[in-house]
Amino acid sequence: MKSVKQIADHYKRKFGTSNPFEIAEFLNIEVIFDSFDKCSGCYFFIKNHRCIFINKNLEYRDRMLVMAHELGHAILHRKLNCYFIRNKTFILNSKIEREANRFAVDLLIDDADLGEYPDKTVDQLSCIFEIEPELIELRLKE
Ligand SMILES: [Zn+2]
Repeated sequence: MKSVKQIADHYKRKFGTSNPFEIAEFLNIEVIFDSFDKCSGCYFFIKNHRCIFINKNLEYRDRMLVMAHELGHAILHRKLNCYFIRNKTFILNSKIEREANRFAVDLLIDDADLGEYPDKTVDQLSCIFEIEPELIELRLKE
């Protein structure tokens, strides 16, 4: 069975991009921008169709991260619906959320980029990549 990282790497190579919005377009996954109160994004499987909603009020970096997470669900957990609630989803420890987070950081942080900072701590990498330390830790695990 392939690891989440292998799956993320596969899509990056296949489509020549690590931008989750571009990959979604290649995969015919519909992306809808809307404003929500508490939700940063969510993923739905409706009528055999994959659909991701992204909160349009998110800053660029958050938008990429939430989109990469939802894309992870669309690819790994096709038939499950998911809500991404800011500051909660990252600490949720369910297998599914962990896998989606893992997919997101594998997608957004390339091995080559990571290789440029061999001696940095998790907190330093967190600043460099503008990604939560918990996610950096996840990325560093093999
Ligand atoms: Zn999720």
